[in-house]
Formats: sequence, structure tokens, C-alpha cells
Amino acid sequence: MSKKSLLLILAVSFCFCTGCAVNPITGEKRLMLIPEQQDFEIGRQYAPEVEKEMGGRIANKGLQNYIDSVGQRIVRVSHKPYWEYHFVALNHKSINAFTLPGGYVFITEGMLKKLTTEAQLAGILAHEIVHVVARHYAAAASRESGETGIMVLAARLGGAKVPAGALTAAGLARQIIGLRYSRKDEREADLAGLDYMVAAGYNPYGVIESMQMLEREDAVRPVEFFSTHPDPQNRSAYLKGRIQTRYGTFDGLRIGKEDYHRFVLDPLANNKAD
Ligand SMILES: [Zn+2]
Repeated sequence: MSKKSLLLILAVSFCFCTGCAVNPITGEKRLMLIPEQQDFEIGRQYAPEVEKEMGGRIANKGLQNYIDSVGQRIVRVSHKPYWEYHFVALNHKSINAFTLPGGYVFITEGMLKKLTTEAQLAGILAHEIVHVVARHYAAAASRESGETGIMVLAARLGGAKVPAGALTAAGLARQIIGLRYSRKDEREADLAGLDYMVAAGYNPYGVIESMQMLEREDAVRPVEFFSTHPDPQNRSAYLKGRIQTRYGTFDGLRIGKEDYHRFVLDPLANNKAD
């Protein structure tokens, strides 16, 4: 056997044993200590806990359906269109959007009130969808949590007899929400998110407006979104550069100001209830 093929076999078996996974967006292999099928179990188990922690769902069906329809429109053009996704608006004043493994995407009332168009919302949701698709949480969990929390949970779901210790469901939910992505993953979510939103028919400047809004808010007081989605350097600049070099004209791409006001801002201003 040649040295090259021996190395190849070693590399393949290393990946097989330790859980390497291919990032569908970049094609890169990376170490993933949590297998993909556990994403769905973690999401299913902890979504209700996260909702409780974050003030519950906004009680307006029209608003929830609208957020979901924007999210699903982007999902259809993503690298994992056959996964089941859930988009949920939460009754929480923080300015935030975050995901749970296995297709759960949450956005807060605080964030929704600061946006003004459907394209801006699409920009935020597309960014979150990339985090789900590329399984950035698993990379963050592998990096941050070590032997505790989410890794223990994943090991237990995988059949290992690991005690959960004193970690409560609420504590674990908080830990999952608080996982901090790397700046490299943030950049990937920005750029692939941009491609997703354009493929879904949205004007890509929506995401620049969203990021600029977040930066303005962050200058007044720290915005929660940036504590888990650290700002990669030159965000607005590289997004603008990418839009200019990759996309010619935006004629006909959706901005959706009226619908955003009708389905989100008006209900939120009028005390929400259907
Ligand atoms: Zn992010």
C-alpha cells in the first residue's frame, strides 16, 4: 500500500471515530463532537424550556405565521431544505435572535420592534438559518462547554451513562442560548446568509440595515445579539463589497415595508393580541 493511501485511510478512520462532519456550506471538514441526529433531540427537548426562559411566545397568530413564512421561504433555498424548521417570536425585551440545534430559530420582540422591513427580518433569519445548517452551535459547544452542560447532554442522548449533575433544564437552556459563535462562523453566517436571502428574492441591503441598526443600538447599551454573535471586523464593509461584486441589479427584489408594518409593527404597537 502506498504511503498516500495509508494516510488517506488513517484520515478517514480518524474522522469516522471522532465525529468529523462536512460543513455543507463551505465543504470543509471539521471536528463535531455532537452527531447530527442529536441536534433534533436537543432542539425538541429544549425548545419549550427556552421559550419559557425567554418570556413565552408572542400571542399573535398572524405575527407568528408571518415570521414563519419569511423563514420558510429562505429555508427552501438553503443547503438543508428538507430539515424541519420552527420560527418563533418571543415575548422578550432583549434585542436578540438565536437558534437551537435541529432547526429552531427564535427572535425577540425587542429585535422585531427595531426592524422596519421584511428584507431586514429576512437578513436576520437567513443569518440564523446558516448557523443551524452549518451546525455552528456544535462547534461552539465542543469549544466552550468541555465536559459540562451540552456535551454531557449529547453524551446521554447518545446512550452514555453520564450523570447530568446539578444542571437543571432551565440552566441548560440558558447555556445553549449563551453559546458564543466564533468570528469565523459569524462571517460565514453573514456571507452565506446574504446568498440565501437573495436566492429567496429579498433585497440584500436589508441585512446591512439590520446590522447597522444593531451597531447603533449597541453604542447606546450592549445589545444581546452581539454577546453570542460577536461582531467580525468590517462587517458592513465586506457585506457591501460582496453585494456589489456578486449581484448586479436588485430590481424586483422584495423589501416588504408595508407587510412588515401590517403583520409585525402594528400588532406589537396595539398590544399584540389577535
Ligand atoms: Zn451569528
